[in-house]
Amino acid sequence: MKSIVDFSRWEEKIDHYPLFRVDEIGSMEACPAQVKFLRLAYPQLTDEVITQLKEIPRVVVILTTAHQNGVGEQRAFFHALLNADCRVPVVLQRSYAEDEAEDIQLKGGVDFGTVLLDGFGNGIMLSNDGNINITDLDAYAFGILQAARVRTSKTEFISCPSCGRTLFDLQTTVALVQKHFSHLKHLKIGVMGCIVNGVGEMADADYGYVGAEHGKISLYRKKQLVAKNIPQAEAVEHLIQLIKDHGDWIEPEVN
Ligand code: SF4
Repeated sequence: MKSIVDFSRWEEKIDHYPLFRVDEIGSMEACPAQVKFLRLAYPQLTDEVITQLKEIPRVVVILTTAHQNGVGEQRAFFHALLNADCRVPVVLQRSYAEDEAEDIQLKGGVDFGTVLLDGFGNGIMLSNDGNINITDLDAYAFGILQAARVRTSKTEFISCPSCGRTLFDLQTTVALVQKHFSHLKHLKIGVMGCIVNGVGEMADADYGYVGAEHGKISLYRKKQLVAKNIPQAEAVEHLIQLIKDHGDWIEPEVN
């Protein structure tokens, strides 16, 4: 675990990084830390601050916002950096006061996701003053990064919403597939209820598990059909073998 602490409390030691306010920017250059964080909002981004950001090495901006349109303000910040040809790395920061997981997932997904999908931001910092534990907040933050294709930290499962065509119980099947393949963090695996639309809907998956007819599954690799009408009870084993045959299998760690 690495720590970012206020500059006034910072001591020079391993994995301990100072956080400067904009009125402390004059102390940044002389600070010997390996990485220096600067907390900044768009209204504080003056020409003088941009000049400092371009000149001082190893600075990372933590971009806050208190604006009603926080996404708009953070976008404006990045456009100002682009116009000044300033390439400082920027971590998007947002604060919430939520007690329900779904509320912070939705708000965080919209606020961070919109800016990340514009191609802006090198990381996110999600803060919450509410009744959600820190481990869950951490998981939501990694989930947002993964959904925006910024950082992959877990297997990506793609599944259809299910409909009248679905040929198996989607929820239990997805849970079964997740149980066997969730350690393969480098893969995208699709679980689709039917071959009519499923193959197209999982177009960017590495492997696909698709309902072929009642009790039968077809397996795909990169949209190519590789095994047809396998009994559902044997489909997971076939998928494991298929992934092994293509060199993508990693043995799960035994705890
Ligand atoms: S993939 Fe097939 S089963 Fe799933 S939602 Fe689409 S049409 Fe329905």
